Amino acid sequence: MKEKTLCLIKPDAYERQLVGKIITMIEKNGFAIKAISFLKLSKNEAEQFYYIHKNKKFFNGLVKYMSSGYTVCMVLEKANAVEELRNLMGNTTPLKAKKGTIRNKFGIDIRHNSIHGSDSIVNAKKEITFFFKGVI
Ligand code: UDP
Ligand code: MG
Repeated sequence: MKEKTLCLIKPDAYERQLVGKIITMIEKNGFAIKAISFLKLSKNEAEQFYYIHKNKKFFNGLVKYMSSGYTVCMVLEKANAVEELRNLMGNTTPLKAKKGTIRNKFGIDIRHNSIHGSDSIVNAKKEITFFFKGVI
Protein backbone atom coordinates (compact mmCIF):
# COMPACT_ATOMS: atom_id res chain seq x y z
CA MET A 1 0.00 0.00 0.00
CA LYS A 2 1.33 3.38 -1.00
CA GLU A 3 1.90 5.77 1.86
CA LYS A 4 2.73 9.47 2.09
CA THR A 5 5.28 11.17 4.30
CA LEU A 6 6.54 14.69 4.82
CA CYS A 7 10.14 15.50 4.01
CA LEU A 8 12.04 18.72 4.65
CA ILE A 9 15.41 19.61 3.19
CA LYS A 10 16.71 21.75 6.03
CA PRO A 11 18.47 25.14 5.88
CA ASP A 12 22.01 23.72 6.27
CA ALA A 13 21.57 21.66 3.09
CA TYR A 14 19.86 24.46 1.19
CA GLU A 15 22.71 26.83 2.05
CA ARG A 16 25.33 24.39 0.76
CA GLN A 17 23.37 23.89 -2.50
CA LEU A 18 22.63 20.23 -1.82
CA VAL A 19 18.93 20.34 -2.76
CA GLY A 20 19.43 18.71 -6.17
CA LYS A 21 21.69 15.95 -4.82
CA ILE A 22 19.26 15.11 -2.01
CA ILE A 23 16.21 15.08 -4.30
CA THR A 24 18.12 12.82 -6.73
CA MET A 25 18.80 10.34 -3.91
CA ILE A 26 15.13 10.48 -2.88
CA GLU A 27 13.90 9.84 -6.44
CA LYS A 28 16.49 7.11 -7.08
CA ASN A 29 15.10 5.36 -4.02
CA GLY A 30 11.66 5.18 -5.58
CA PHE A 31 9.83 8.04 -3.90
CA ALA A 32 7.42 10.09 -6.01
CA ILE A 33 7.20 13.80 -5.22
CA LYS A 34 3.48 14.55 -4.83
CA ALA A 35 3.89 18.18 -3.67
CA ILE A 36 6.83 20.50 -3.28
CA SER A 37 7.35 24.03 -2.01
CA PHE A 38 10.02 26.26 -0.74
CA LEU A 39 9.83 28.67 2.18
CA LYS A 40 11.57 30.31 5.07
CA LEU A 41 9.87 29.23 8.28
CA SER A 42 9.07 32.00 10.75
CA LYS A 43 10.19 31.48 14.35
CA ASN A 44 6.56 30.88 15.24
CA GLU A 45 6.09 28.26 12.48
CA ALA A 46 9.30 26.46 13.49
CA GLU A 47 8.07 26.39 17.11
CA GLN A 48 4.73 24.95 16.02
CA PHE A 49 6.30 22.35 13.74
CA TYR A 50 8.66 21.10 16.47
CA TYR A 51 6.17 21.61 19.34
CA ILE A 52 6.69 17.95 20.39
CA HIS A 53 10.24 18.95 21.44
CA LYS A 54 9.28 22.11 23.32
CA ASN A 55 10.60 20.86 26.67
CA LYS A 56 13.92 19.65 25.29
CA LYS A 57 17.18 21.45 25.99
CA PHE A 58 17.83 21.82 22.26
CA PHE A 59 14.42 23.39 21.42
CA ASN A 60 15.47 27.06 21.23
CA GLY A 61 18.56 26.29 19.17
CA LEU A 62 16.54 24.07 16.85
CA VAL A 63 13.90 26.76 16.29
CA LYS A 64 16.56 29.38 15.61
CA TYR A 65 18.28 27.12 13.09
CA MET A 66 15.07 26.05 11.32
CA SER A 67 14.01 29.68 10.89
CA SER A 68 17.48 30.84 9.81
CA GLY A 69 17.21 30.01 6.12
CA TYR A 70 15.27 28.30 3.38
CA THR A 71 13.63 24.90 3.62
CA VAL A 72 12.30 22.72 0.80
CA CYS A 73 9.09 20.91 1.81
CA MET A 74 7.89 17.80 0.00
CA VAL A 75 5.17 15.21 0.21
CA LEU A 76 6.73 11.90 -0.82
CA GLU A 77 4.86 8.76 -1.80
CA LYS A 78 6.02 5.16 -1.84
CA ALA A 79 5.05 1.83 -0.29
CA ASN A 80 5.96 2.06 3.41
CA ALA A 81 7.15 5.65 2.81
CA VAL A 82 7.47 6.72 6.46
CA GLU A 83 9.88 3.94 7.42
CA GLU A 84 11.64 3.92 4.04
CA LEU A 85 12.43 7.63 4.25
CA ARG A 86 13.69 7.30 7.84
CA ASN A 87 16.00 4.51 6.61
CA LEU A 88 17.27 6.64 3.73
CA MET A 89 17.84 9.61 6.10
CA GLY A 90 19.88 7.68 8.67
CA ASN A 91 20.51 8.42 12.35
CA THR A 92 19.87 11.92 13.75
CA THR A 93 23.63 12.16 14.45
CA PRO A 94 25.40 12.09 11.07
CA LEU A 95 28.45 10.28 12.47
CA LYS A 96 26.17 7.45 13.66
CA ALA A 97 24.22 7.30 10.40
CA LYS A 98 24.86 4.30 8.16
CA LYS A 99 27.02 4.76 5.07
CA GLY A 100 25.05 5.80 2.03
CA THR A 101 22.31 7.54 4.01
CA ILE A 102 21.55 11.21 3.41
CA ARG A 103 22.65 12.30 6.88
CA ASN A 104 25.85 10.28 6.64
CA LYS A 105 26.69 11.91 3.32
CA PHE A 106 25.59 15.48 3.97
CA GLY A 107 24.80 16.06 7.66
CA ILE A 108 27.13 18.26 9.70
CA ASP A 109 26.11 17.51 13.28
CA ILE A 110 23.15 16.41 15.42
CA ARG A 111 21.31 19.70 14.70
CA HIS A 112 22.43 20.50 11.16
CA ASN A 113 21.52 17.11 9.74
CA SER A 114 20.11 18.19 6.35
CA ILE A 115 16.77 16.38 6.28
CA HIS A 116 13.57 15.75 8.21
CA GLY A 117 11.17 12.85 7.70
CA SER A 118 7.97 12.14 9.62
CA ASP A 119 8.42 9.46 12.29
CA SER A 120 4.96 7.80 12.09
CA ILE A 121 1.93 7.63 9.81
CA VAL A 122 -0.08 9.73 12.27
CA ASN A 123 2.60 12.43 12.39
CA ALA A 124 3.04 12.29 8.60
CA LYS A 125 -0.64 13.24 8.21
CA LYS A 126 -0.29 16.11 10.70
CA GLU A 127 2.94 17.36 9.14
CA ILE A 128 1.62 17.17 5.56
CA THR A 129 -1.40 19.22 6.64
CA PHE A 130 0.92 21.73 8.32
CA PHE A 131 2.56 22.55 4.97
CA PHE A 132 0.07 21.55 2.28
CA LYS A 133 -3.69 21.80 1.93
CA GLY A 134 -5.59 19.22 -0.09
CA VAL A 135 -2.78 16.70 -0.58
CA ILE A 136 -4.36 14.15 1.77
N1 UDP B 1 18.21 18.25 17.34
C1 UDP B 1 19.10 19.15 17.94
N2 UDP B 1 19.82 18.72 19.04
C2 UDP B 1 19.66 17.49 19.59
C3 UDP B 1 18.75 16.59 18.99
C4 UDP B 1 18.04 17.00 17.89
O1 UDP B 1 19.25 20.28 17.48
O2 UDP B 1 20.34 17.18 20.59
C5 UDP B 1 17.44 18.68 16.16
C6 UDP B 1 17.86 17.96 14.87
O3 UDP B 1 17.82 18.89 13.78
C7 UDP B 1 16.83 16.88 14.76
C8 UDP B 1 15.58 17.60 15.29
O4 UDP B 1 16.08 18.40 16.36
O5 UDP B 1 16.70 16.40 13.44
C9 UDP B 1 14.45 16.72 15.77
O6 UDP B 1 14.98 15.82 16.72
P1 UDP B 1 14.56 14.28 16.71
O7 UDP B 1 15.10 13.66 17.94
O8 UDP B 1 13.07 14.19 16.47
O9 UDP B 1 15.38 13.68 15.47
P2 UDP B 1 14.92 13.20 14.02
O10 UDP B 1 13.53 12.65 14.13
O11 UDP B 1 14.99 14.42 13.12
O12 UDP B 1 15.94 12.17 13.63
MG1 MG C 1 11.82 13.29 15.09
